Amino acid sequence: MRREKIQADIGLGANLGDPQQAVLAGIEALRTSEGLEVLAQSHLYRSEPVSAGGPDYVNAVVRVFSELCAPDLLALLQHLERRAGRVRSYRNAPRTLDLDLLSFGQGRIWSKSLTVPHPRMRDRAFVLRPLRDIDPSLVTSAELERLSDQRIALVGAEGA
Ligand code: AMP
Repeated sequence: MRREKIQADIGLGANLGDPQQAVLAGIEALRTSEGLEVLAQSHLYRSEPVSAGGPDYVNAVVRVFSELCAPDLLALLQHLERRAGRVRSYRNAPRTLDLDLLSFGQGRIWSKSLTVPHPRMRDRAFVLRPLRDIDPSLVTSAELERLSDQRIALVGAEGA
């Protein structure tokens, strides 16, 4: 039986070790995961931590077709986080790799372990800037302007 494919957007972030390498490895892990097909990937961005201390993050957003249902996709993301060495020590702690499910088709989910669309994504330039790379129709200039106090730059163009 052919399984339905749902389009989903996934946010990636890392701010420990070599964060750029961690995000690239995370994207590669998504590419090679069974049940996922990567359709598009954003540029990489460097951003200051929001509501937390620690080193700058590297962020990206990836769009996939998922044959997995939303809870299974979340479980896969958490498996990949663990494989990347992430330890959940405290809320907003620095992390080797953070994977967030931003959207899952047109679905709206409010369960104990999963809220989709991701409830804080509209408040985070580090989500909206890369999301605009892969789908400009989802992010308005006014939204980005509202978040212009959050420092973020393309990797390689910092300080330019
Ligand atoms: P964080 O530490 O910010 O990555 O949050 C991880 C926790 O948020 C996990 O316990 C998840 O079950 C929960 N969560 C709820 N909604 C989402 C979502 N859309 N994407 C990723 N994690 C989520």
